[in-house]
Amino acid sequence: MGSGLDGGNKPGHRFGTMLPEWLEKILILQDRDTRKARIETQIRHIPKEVSVCEEKIAQLESNLELARRLVQDLEVKRKGLESEIAAEENHLNRYRNQQLQVKKNDEYKALTHEIEGVEAKISNLEEAEIQVLLDLDEEKENLEKKDSEFKEEVAYQQNLIKKLGEREINLKKDLAEAEAEVEKARSESSEKYLKPYDRLAKTLKPPVVVPLRNQKCGGCHLKVSSGVDSEVRAKGENITCDNCGRLLYWEA
Ligand SMILES: [Zn+2]
Repeated sequence: MGSGLDGGNKPGHRFGTMLPEWLEKILILQDRDTRKARIETQIRHIPKEVSVCEEKIAQLESNLELARRLVQDLEVKRKGLESEIAAEENHLNRYRNQQLQVKKNDEYKALTHEIEGVEAKISNLEEAEIQVLLDLDEEKENLEKKDSEFKEEVAYQQNLIKKLGEREINLKKDLAEAEAEVEKARSESSEKYLKPYDRLAKTLKPPVVVPLRNQKCGGCHLKVSSGVDSEVRAKGENITCDNCGRLLYWEA
């Protein structure tokens, strides 16, 4: 049966067969309508693609902000510890001065006790400060890394947005061209054939004008009745698939 060339949707092949003129014109219109719809879909998707990029940028900004705040918090903590240490050192000096002036042994001992307490406090604070400084180093390094990653990624996303804008402009040009081609095809078809085509195109998924092969509709791929099959083979006009309602034609 099949020559091996059959089954393709290539216009060259399809239009190479002997089709009635009206049908060829409707098929040309269908091709152009399909192209137009495809361009419209692509244009419709662009704002979504742009907002995906914008969301990524916002996410990067908030990640970076988080890393920056971590560093700031640690710096505040460090300053706090430094002034606590300074205050304790003042205490320490005061106690030491007092100790030089006391005469009684028990007063001297009491001050020694105070001094030891303050020294322990300072040592704890200094240990905490060292930990903060280590954390600070780590977080600063992290921030620097994030900052350069951020710049790279933001530039990438911004470039994508720019490209999407250019794509939109080109697609709109293509759409205008496709619309003009659709109009041209419509003007070359008669109302008699446009009406049923438009009616089907409004409710069914394209293509709505499809070939019949091996008694199967090229749209829904279901078997049509033998009555429909013979009418299509006889090249009748306006014969529709009894399953999906698409307009059927015979290619051979
Ligand atoms: Zn069908």
